[in-house]
Amino acid sequence: MILVAGFALAQIQPARGEEEKKGFFSKIFGGGKSEEKPAEKPAEVKTESKPKSTTSSKSKSTASKPKSEPAKKPAPKPVVAEKKTQEKPKETPKVTPKVETKTAPAPQTASVNNVKNEAKPSASNPWHVIDVGGRDYITLESIRNFYNPLFGFTGFRQQGNHVWLMSNKLVIKAQVGSQELLMNNMKFILSFPIISHGSNTLISRLDLVKLVDPILNPSHIQGAEYFDTVVVDAGHGGHDAGARGVYGYEKNFALKMAQHLRTALMARGFKVVLTRSTDSFISLSGRVSIANQIPNSIFISLHLNSGGSTASGIETWALTPQNAAATISRGGGYNASGTTGNKQDSANIALASAVQARVLSTVKVVDRGIKRAQWSVLTGIKKPGILFEGGFVTNAKECLLIASDSYQKTVAVAIADAVANYRKALEPAMVNRR
Ligand SMILES: [Zn+2]
Repeated sequence: MILVAGFALAQIQPARGEEEKKGFFSKIFGGGKSEEKPAEKPAEVKTESKPKSTTSSKSKSTASKPKSEPAKKPAPKPVVAEKKTQEKPKETPKVTPKVETKTAPAPQTASVNNVKNEAKPSASNPWHVIDVGGRDYITLESIRNFYNPLFGFTGFRQQGNHVWLMSNKLVIKAQVGSQELLMNNMKFILSFPIISHGSNTLISRLDLVKLVDPILNPSHIQGAEYFDTVVVDAGHGGHDAGARGVYGYEKNFALKMAQHLRTALMARGFKVVLTRSTDSFISLSGRVSIANQIPNSIFISLHLNSGGSTASGIETWALTPQNAAATISRGGGYNASGTTGNKQDSANIALASAVQARVLSTVKVVDRGIKRAQWSVLTGIKKPGILFEGGFVTNAKECLLIASDSYQKTVAVAIADAVANYRKALEPAMVNRR
């Protein structure tokens, strides 16, 4: 679902004939819920001068602002600053994500007036960049203009704090003051809240580059490597039982799900490596080092959640991008220096989106969103990786589902389909492509 243009171009077919739901998420990643639209008909958006395409930034780009250059590629790509991430993997990953003392300087109010600098769009630069409290924000309007060649937006509507950007392929819904962004009704947790300045709705440049762009334009993700192998990591094991559920332990459900996932992936032609295939303990650093030893691979860690007795739903985690804060306080805080895994930021969010979307379209569960944290198993990974939480074992009703073979299998098949969809969507950008 999420991946729009590149995915649409890839013409990914719905897998296995289950009934697809509406929305481009289903057309693309094979998932998503039906779209939510504002009640009234949105105002028409005139097609104005289109932003020019830009050349892609390399991971070592030192550009400090989004900028455009003469069109050379068919699809636009924002060029933004990306600091180099550290090469050196963490030697002793901890059980819990590391906590930084620094916190992200986030604006306290949704509507801002501490604007330092403002760069308005011009013929050579499509981006309206506004510096708020030392952080660059981009207007939603310039995002609309930039991606309009890909999506043909037909509506741009504001109502109170809510803003919609609409085309028949894509509906983006944002809310001033909120960190949630809905794209075709898939929930993404932004690194920084949406703010407003005058009549403009603003999204942080980091969220544009690290979240919105990889999803809207996945076929242009830089440096994505071809893969034919999936390292499937069943969380916990041995003396580490994980969450204690109503009908069993997390470690056992995770292992069963991993085994179903292996079967489903192999049926789709992937090679699979399990970090554990029995009820054995393996350290987090051990999992990372297994993953890093397997060539041409991606990494999927499977977990089940714990919380209150009524907490429910699935969530998919990608590593916190550099210069952003984790979605939750225990998720590693502010990621100032970057980690090995940050080299894969764009691929990580695309993979997470593919999986979350596909599972949501297949099973009726609550969408808790695509989130970011510096989980130990993700920080040192040299390849795209995600951590999937397949429901709450502490919720009796959900745990009953999780304990069933049919749920385990259905979710595993959905994840395997998502992996295939992800590869197809990114294939045009993949290096060492077969
Ligand atoms: Zn776990």
